[in-house]
Amino acid sequence: MNLRIGIVTAPHIRWTDSTQNGIPTFVIHDVRIGIGFHWDRMQTQEFAGQLTIKDNPDGTQTAINTIDLEDYLTSVISSEMAATSPIELLKAHAIISRSWAVRAVQTRQQTTRYKNLLAATFESGGHKDYDVCADDHCQRYEGIRSIHPRAVEAVQSTANHVLTYNNEVCDTRFHKCCGGKTELFATCWEDVDIPYLQSVSCPYCQRAVERLRQSDPAIQQCLMAYDQEHNDFFNWQVTYTPDQLQQILLEKTGIDFGRIQALRPIKRGASGRIYSLEIVGEKTSRILGKELTIRRALSPTCLYSSLFDIDGLTLHGRGWGHGVGLCQLGAAEMALEGFDATYILNYYYPNTQIRDLSEITR
Ligand SMILES: [Zn+2]
Ligand SMILES: [Zn+2]
Repeated sequence: MNLRIGIVTAPHIRWTDSTQNGIPTFVIHDVRIGIGFHWDRMQTQEFAGQLTIKDNPDGTQTAINTIDLEDYLTSVISSEMAATSPIELLKAHAIISRSWAVRAVQTRQQTTRYKNLLAATFESGGHKDYDVCADDHCQRYEGIRSIHPRAVEAVQSTANHVLTYNNEVCDTRFHKCCGGKTELFATCWEDVDIPYLQSVSCPYCQRAVERLRQSDPAIQQCLMAYDQEHNDFFNWQVTYTPDQLQQILLEKTGIDFGRIQALRPIKRGASGRIYSLEIVGEKTSRILGKELTIRRALSPTCLYSSLFDIDGLTLHGRGWGHGVGLCQLGAAEMALEGFDATYILNYYYPNTQIRDLSEITR
């Protein structure tokens, strides 16, 4: 299966032909990555496969790389995961990333993964000229220069394997740290029940965080450097003054609540994440939801999660991300404790099967 990846859009794409171990490649200069995030920067990247330069109506150009799905995945796993992770964690992630990419192609649906330091979540918004983009919006794809042999091993040993339910490729959502229990799809997105995205208890991420606090190298080796800047996401706390919160809410929602008097959770999901929250102000009161809307409204950036207890204007929180599907930190701990990729995937996506893509191609 071939995948079309939009690498970069620029006023003018600068690229040159090259070779790597006798294989023709191309080098694109000035690739912008981490768009909108604090690691936003330009890089020179090298790619295998085919390059198409598309001229856009607004005068810009887009570089589109067409490449085999498995080759794409070796780059993605090298870019998204620390290569020093246990191999069973890398294999589990390879199956998730493959399933996600296959769904993007198969259904042409607008499932895109939007991830930043504070929010590991999905948002709607697809691509017109290609299947997936190369940035954090979809899955990070940085070409062939950063490919790690262990990522190749993880992809090859799970070749063509996807996670399925009822003969369909699964919507393999994942997040950084569930905080003790995973969440239901409907708490975060549309009101539908997805049979394999159920709430499961997860004692593993807490054990992983305990390792992090003790600077255990086993868990440190599972995390990218930027993720190690935070070890407070299993338990976190935010305190506002009424003035501060009024100002943040005005900036983020456009609503002047007046002096904030209370925050009242109306509805909580299976993990305890709030998806309906009443904000009571002197001038007006409103109910906000769902999960991501609440996280954005109550922070100058975005709260780690909507799993928090309220004590006055202090939020006592747990977890990082929407909590749906696989808990990355929990999965890392499971791999360290000796569970294999199949067990890990069945734990977080119950009633699913790992199958070969050729068996289910429609
Ligand atoms: Zn994208
Ligand atoms: Zn967890």
